Amino acid sequence: MSELLVSNIETRGVPGKRRFAMVIDLRRCIGCDACMTACKAEYDVPLGVFRTWVPYRVVGTYPNVRKQFMPRLCNHCDDPPCVRSCPVGATYKMEDGGFVLQRYERCIGCKACMASCPYNARFMLPKNRTYTDIHSVVDKCTFCHHRVMNNLAPACVQTCIGRSRIFGDLNDPNSEVSHLVNTLPTQVLRPEEGTKPHVFYIGLDRNTSEIGRGIYSAPEVLEEGRNAFGAVKI
Ligand code: SF4
Ligand code: SF4
Repeated sequence: MSELLVSNIETRGVPGKRRFAMVIDLRRCIGCDACMTACKAEYDVPLGVFRTWVPYRVVGTYPNVRKQFMPRLCNHCDDPPCVRSCPVGATYKMEDGGFVLQRYERCIGCKACMASCPYNARFMLPKNRTYTDIHSVVDKCTFCHHRVMNNLAPACVQTCIGRSRIFGDLNDPNSEVSHLVNTLPTQVLRPEEGTKPHVFYIGLDRNTSEIGRGIYSAPEVLEEGRNAFGAVKI
């Protein structure tokens, strides 16, 4: 199977239901990290972990160099291995909308979902939260379910200064995401995994698709970093 899938038909979820998707136009991302910041603020995402992140690589030869950005998040897959691998049903997929969500109260922190996600989109919530005491369970992007249910765009989409991120219902023929996916070549990450992702990229190529996939460090490394951060005297 080819590395990148040009896909618009097989990933529409349940017929007659909404199927939310995000299109990320890599040509428009300027790497300002506003999306990461908005997401951190929306969810009190702790230091060292991310629901969305914008890795980059430098391409070209000095002095003609530039950064190539590659925004990442949970793909809200149509066939999510994280849901299949969870032994206690803590992660599940909503029929209406296609959101893959997490029930903190059920999660036993076994990390099976983290191991099965081909996109490294999940992480363990560390201790030392600022506003809540939810910790030691797995978390990830929710496609801003609470905002979307109130007719708001996800925080990262609303704040995207480059209009690189576009969000909407793929099953609505009048939505901007439908228009983009139907009229432009789009790609998804790791189609060979059969997960049917619902984050579609414009301008992705073989060289960019793996940028930043391994951003997460082992929890003990993150803990070291947090301790070092906490130890700074000012
Ligand atoms: S990207 Fe990973 S965490 Fe998100 S739905 Fe797909 S397999 Fe699950
Ligand atoms: S907010 Fe938009 S332009 Fe800025 S880094 Fe995120 S995706 Fe790129």
